[in-house]
Amino acid sequence: MLAVISYFIVGPRLIQITVIDGADMKLWRQPFDMAEKAPKPVKVHIDVDRCKGCGYCAEFCPRGVLKMTDELSPKGYDMVKVVDETKCLGCGLCEAICPEFGIYLTTEEKEE
Ligand code: SF4
Ligand code: SF4
Repeated sequence: MLAVISYFIVGPRLIQITVIDGADMKLWRQPFDMAEKAPKPVKVHIDVDRCKGCGYCAEFCPRGVLKMTDELSPKGYDMVKVVDETKCLGCGLCEAICPEFGIYLTTEEKEE
């Protein structure tokens, strides 16, 4: 692992920036360590009355299950669609990240 420490003078202050680089270092984290958390089969539901089309769920879904479309919801917001539910990990990130409680998951067990 390589550690690089650099100093910069910005205005009247000296700041230190530390960059650490290494082949095994994680620079960012995929949600919930995907493969190990492979789920029970889930169904992804979008509540079109709540969704405001912000796109967070589609942007951060680690598997590209969701996609924004040009279609408008009954309230006039861009709609998000489930494009390939078979790829869904059931990680719950979309549910957790939605500020409008507009997307949720159910398991097959819950639906029975
Ligand atoms: S639970 Fe949501 S964020 Fe996770 S893979 Fe499925 S659709 Fe994507
Ligand atoms: S995060 Fe929620 S409000 Fe935003 S597009 Fe997805 S379902 Fe809609």
